[in-house]
Formats: sequence, C-alpha cells, structure tokens
Amino acid sequence: MRYPLTILLFLAALTGLTLGTAGPGAAQALAKDLFGAKTDGSPHLSEPFGFYSKGCLAGGVELPETGPTWQAMRLSRNRNWGHADTIDYIRNLSAFAAKQPGWQGLYVGDISQPRGGPMTSGHRSHQMGLDVDIWMLPASRLNLSRQFRENISSISVTTGNEAYVNDNWSTPHFRILREAAKDRRVERIFVSPGVKVQLCKQETGNRRWLRKIRPLGYHNYHFHVRLECPRRASGCVKQDAPPPGDGCDEAQQWVNNIVNPQPPKPRDPDAPRRVPQPHPRTFVMSDLPQACAVVLNPS
Ligand SMILES: [Zn+2]
Repeated sequence: MRYPLTILLFLAALTGLTLGTAGPGAAQALAKDLFGAKTDGSPHLSEPFGFYSKGCLAGGVELPETGPTWQAMRLSRNRNWGHADTIDYIRNLSAFAAKQPGWQGLYVGDISQPRGGPMTSGHRSHQMGLDVDIWMLPASRLNLSRQFRENISSISVTTGNEAYVNDNWSTPHFRILREAAKDRRVERIFVSPGVKVQLCKQETGNRRWLRKIRPLGYHNYHFHVRLECPRRASGCVKQDAPPPGDGCDEAQQWVNNIVNPQPPKPRDPDAPRRVPQPHPRTFVMSDLPQACAVVLNPS
C-alpha cells in the first residue's frame, strides 16, 4: 500500500516523529549527485514537490522502455521516470501519434530521474516528473535496440536560426502538437519560435490551444511538454499562466528579430539589474523543499 508523502509528513509533524534524513555528509553533498544515484522511485504515491526547476518527485513511475506506441530514448540516463499523470499523458499522446501516416507513435526523450531532483547534465527543469521532451523525429519503427537508442539523433524541423520550419516539418507534427496542447493537464509546451509561427499559420479553427505553445530557443529537435501541478498536490508550486491571447504576434516579432536583429537599446541606469540565478547543478539539499529529503531517504 502506498500513501501520499504529504499525509506521512503531516502525521509525522503531529506525532513529533522524524521522517527521512539527508544522510551523513549530505549537508555538503550536491543534490544532483544524491538524486542521480537513485535507481528507482520512492515508495509513495506520485506527488511533485517544489518547482519545475527546483524540486523532486515522490512515487516516480517508470515509463516502460518500449510500449505499444512509444520508445524511450537514451536509456543510460535513466530519465524515463515521471509523475503518474505524465506517464498516462505519454500513453495517450503516443496512441494519437500512431494514427498519423509514417508514425508508429513517439520517441520519448528525458522526463525525470526516478526521484526527480537536479540533474548532472542538461536541463534546469524536469525536476518534478511533470516535464517531458518528445522528439521531432517521426517514430517510424518501435524496435530500436538499446544501443541504437543511445546513438541515434533526432532531427531538426527548423532552419538553423529556428526562425522557419524546414522540409522535415509535416502535417503530423502540426496535428501531434495540437493534440498535445489540447490536453487539459498541459500547462505549456516549448517549441522554437519558427515552429510557433508555423502552428499559428496552420490553425484555421479554434486557436485557444495556441496560448499554451510558448516559443523558446533550442526546441527544434524536440518539443517540451510541461504539465500543471496535479490537483491536491499542495507541495507543487504553480507557474504563472502564459499571457492571454494566442501569442502569435509575439512569436512573429521574435522571428523578425532573429532575421533582422535590432541594435541593443542603451541600458536604463534606473532599471533593476537581473540577479543571475544559481544553476540547479549547484543545489544542496537545503535548497530543495524539506519533503525532498524524505523522497531521497524514506525511513
Ligand atoms: Zn525539456
């Protein structure tokens, strides 16, 4: 029987019990190393704690390496773990993708580590099991070997500057991204600015889903789906909703700036300086929510 970690923490607070310790030496140890060493999920119900770029995942569920309509890629990273909702979402979306000509489903990139948390390489986010990268490469077959999945690369669907889609772009990409965004659990989806503009051009009907599609650089080989904090996940910090509207003009403006860069404006000396945020690779356990110590070492 698995219980929500929030309930266990609440009971522990009531009874004065100590739950989970970070372990000897953990005060100095980097969270990325502690979380990176875990090979399975914690024995709780699925529950995210913290924020997408500063958190962890209780009760992580493993996405099977190969399913009826997907294959997980780069298995050596062990990042095919997510919140139960994320795994369910991938099952549904990949079943939709499998109906597209030339697609047997989806190639799934990074989700999270078994217990989430900061990672040794790559992403700032993907820490709560609610982010998933999905490859733009059509999943034309689902019998790729583990070794092949280490070495194969995805394909880019844009020009090098990410301003326009290229010949790899196809109607199935449009349909899959629209389906991906229409799911009510989705908070936002990151794609290259040129991909967003293309989606804006192709949609001739209801444009509401386009609001969730957010332009971001380095999202031409994959798209990045971020799910909302699940209902009743009180330890999960929500992200501010995207600005109202379909965001198409803003994306077009971004593309215009790529093609025709504007000279930088002189800095306003009165404007507040942006404080650089520390990278999650430098986090220690005390940077994360307290529940994450229990996720790491349930006693
Ligand atoms: Zn991502």
